[in-house]
Amino acid sequence: MAKIAFIGLGNMGGPMAANLAKAQHHVTAFDLSTAAVEAAVEKGAHKAASAAEAVRDAEIVVTMLPAGKHVREVYEKDVLPNVGKGTLLIDCSTIDVDSARHVAALAAKAGFEMVDAPVSGGVGGATAGTLTFMVGGPEATFGKARPVLEKMGKNIVHAGDSGSGQAAKICNNMILGISMLAVSEGFMLGKRLGLDMQKLFNVVSTASGSCWSLVNYCPVPGPVPTSPANRDYQAGFTAAMMLKDMLLSQQASAASGASTPLGAQAAQLYSLFVNSGHAAKDFSGIIRMLDGK
Ligand code: NAD
Repeated sequence: MAKIAFIGLGNMGGPMAANLAKAQHHVTAFDLSTAAVEAAVEKGAHKAASAAEAVRDAEIVVTMLPAGKHVREVYEKDVLPNVGKGTLLIDCSTIDVDSARHVAALAAKAGFEMVDAPVSGGVGGATAGTLTFMVGGPEATFGKARPVLEKMGKNIVHAGDSGSGQAAKICNNMILGISMLAVSEGFMLGKRLGLDMQKLFNVVSTASGSCWSLVNYCPVPGPVPTSPANRDYQAGFTAAMMLKDMLLSQQASAASGASTPLGAQAAQLYSLFVNSGHAAKDFSGIIRMLDGK
């Protein structure tokens, strides 16, 4: 099995690294948070004292970091100066297309193959190993990355050249951000009309309003036991991360000339939620703001 360096062991990276270790890969893990590294070690990974140390002997590097600036910094300062010849680089973070293309170009210049491979499926999918990966990069590099991605996900899709994985992910998350607001509005209307939340869920989940935000991540407590609504909106996917992705979608819309009026409105609503002190809450907690709480 491969020697894999895993950098960024947060809500998503932690369980993803655990699945690689479970598949008998030799995983060397690093995160700025010592607690996150300790948790990864408990799940079978080996501890590294720095990102540079983690990547030194690696055949494959996987990163799962918050945003473009972290990915640029980690690849420029830690990964590219320290990896050995032939190492395959896989960035699973959700970042802007420009940063993804910039880092891939630096990697290519230094003689390394790289893909951007952002994911969908949330912490539940990361834990179960059922994530969807949207991969950008040359077809041949995609072929090399696929076996390792298959240990963390179920659907591995080649989206196109470098940056295309990020482009697909931004479109997906704009849909997610809007659909969570739509479900939240529907349930708050149902509440005002005196409907029982479970009964409304039973109807909509088998009717034309059904969607992922409802079926897998219902924003009211009860119908979906694993959804953050059942633990006071403790984050799987923070509101701050959702706002980051909504703003990425709006930057991309402006740059490409696409019309995304609902995306613009949703970005404003997540901004309001984040700026009213809820950055660290799960994004589905926005239903409480719509409920006037
Ligand atoms: P997180 O904040 O829980 O984890 C990020 C981790 O990166 C943290 O543990 C942090 O300490 C670490 N980190 C930051 N800078 C670092 C550095 N320089 N070196 C080493 N470690 C560093 O975030 P997350 O929810 O795991 O999300 C990670 C990425 O995945 C984001 O881009 C997010 O948009 C994307 N994503 C998240 C979800 C989700 O449901 N949480 C779903 C799909 C995609």
